[in-house]
Amino acid sequence: MCGIVGYAGKDQAISKTINCLEKLEYRGYDSAGLAYIQNNNVVLKKKKGRIHELKKELDYNIICNTAIAHTRWATHGYANDINAHPHQVGKITLVHNGIIENYDELKEMLKEKNYSFVSSTDTEVVAALIDYLYQANNNLLDVLTSLKDYLKGSYALAIICDDDKNSIWAIKKDSPLILGIGTNEYFIASDIPAFLDYTNKYIILDDNEIVKLDGHGYSIIHGGNTITKEIKNYQSINTDSGKGNYPYYMLKEINEQPIIIDKLLRHYLSDNLSSLIDLSIYKQIDIVGCGSAYHAALIAKSLFEEYSDTKVNCYIASEYRYQKNFYDRDSIVIFISQSGETADTLACVRNVKERHIKTLAIVNVEDSSIARESDDVIYTVCGSEIAVATTKAYTAQVTILALLALKVALVKKMASLDEIKKDVAQIKADMESLIDNIDYEIISKKLYQQHDIFYIGRLIDYAIALEGSLKLKEISYINSATYPAGELKHGTISLVSKNSPIIAIITYDKTKDKTLSNIEEVKAREAYTIVLTNEDIKSERIDELIKIPKVNKWLQPIITIIPLQLIAYHVALLKGYDIDKPRNLAKSVTVE
Ligand code: GLU
Repeated sequence: MCGIVGYAGKDQAISKTINCLEKLEYRGYDSAGLAYIQNNNVVLKKKKGRIHELKKELDYNIICNTAIAHTRWATHGYANDINAHPHQVGKITLVHNGIIENYDELKEMLKEKNYSFVSSTDTEVVAALIDYLYQANNNLLDVLTSLKDYLKGSYALAIICDDDKNSIWAIKKDSPLILGIGTNEYFIASDIPAFLDYTNKYIILDDNEIVKLDGHGYSIIHGGNTITKEIKNYQSINTDSGKGNYPYYMLKEINEQPIIIDKLLRHYLSDNLSSLIDLSIYKQIDIVGCGSAYHAALIAKSLFEEYSDTKVNCYIASEYRYQKNFYDRDSIVIFISQSGETADTLACVRNVKERHIKTLAIVNVEDSSIARESDDVIYTVCGSEIAVATTKAYTAQVTILALLALKVALVKKMASLDEIKKDVAQIKADMESLIDNIDYEIISKKLYQQHDIFYIGRLIDYAIALEGSLKLKEISYINSATYPAGELKHGTISLVSKNSPIIAIITYDKTKDKTLSNIEEVKAREAYTIVLTNEDIKSERIDELIKIPKVNKWLQPIITIIPLQLIAYHVALLKGYDIDKPRNLAKSVTVE
């Protein structure tokens, strides 16, 4: 969500800043902008839409050493050229990621001081506030140090001041910001991959730290004092290696799943799960996530409860953050996030840590905020996920959660490793056959012109259905609703009419017959039924049957999601949408 880039160095500030900005495109955005210094003037370029629209306005031959740039994911005001960043007020030009909650009252105060505003953003108010404070004392460091006393909300800011146009100042609170250290060039960015073409040396900035950079160096200041921070080397596999021969990252990432899951399983099973944390010692397990990460948590709940006899509570982070929670010193809270920067989840980590409760993170991006701030971290190690709609990170989360549940079952002597090891040998081939041997295009042709699609399932199949439905909504913009199969008749079956598509998941043996009865009920209302199942079901009531290999119960949810990912992909493809960058969505949701 939103990308910030700043460059201070030898040359080519425009092309380098734009290159960095493009590396942040995956985060999702709706407009882009740049401010650079030309002949000692600050030049602004901003455009609604994609970075390539902005690029049409730029001249890469301009000699220039300093620039700040931004991809905006609008929170305050429409996505248009005026609201795009950078914003410039008086002597201050800046880009911002985050939300200023008290911008209304600040705006009123600043209007009384004769400031006027051209955009609808909260960001322009910050620019005016900094200018106002700076005009009073001419000391930008003091102004930035005091900023936390004025602003409520979250912010990462990169700032150029007219009085020192060769320097960039940056500050952050509750939004990510990283300093990149090159050779005679320095970067500021929302995420490390932004500057990896130029350097892999970086420093993660913490809240209220201020950094000043120019072509000669950088300094980091906290509470008025210059501080020294560890310079790290980025060695992660989390770098974008391109789409290869695939038309979209999403398809590439779906296809990467067999190898990733096979590797993960073999890694943890090679030492009989001894490197995994034993959750059986905790009296309460809460799992917290947003979107697909929350769906992964629901899968885990089914596995822990059904097969490890262990109660698990699942929560949506934006709710958990404000609700009354009942954890105590015997509890553990598990946080799931692909990016490790999800603002709501990160806020929950901080709340829970304040109460001295044990925290465990399951994240993909190395050294991300949630990974750093949790007591323990398990990485999903599936490489950069670029498509906004998650696939491989989700299945990797489910895999790790399944292994954590299995470990508890082992400790409680409710399971043996032998039962899973046999299927692990087969899982890669099973996943590949699901990807390669089913004609998803034919199935999707039945769906892509529909306005409403229903997903049903019971217990763990319901959790899988929720994720399948979310994939479809995210990238095809078709409304789809998900219900526990037995719940339809308590109200929603009124929506089912001739040819309403119903996608049912049946992998859980105990409820198979019950869900089949629910399929009968919708078929009696002339619905069009698609059933994903690992059972040998023959029924005239099923219009389309997708057969899934039957694997061990711990592994079944990992493979069952694949056809649903591919149905969503093919429906979006038929509709001609930008699959990797769906409208309104961001990959790394860094605002509340
Ligand atoms: N709240 C700011 C705006 O709407 C920044 C949004 C962002 O993080 O991109 O302009």
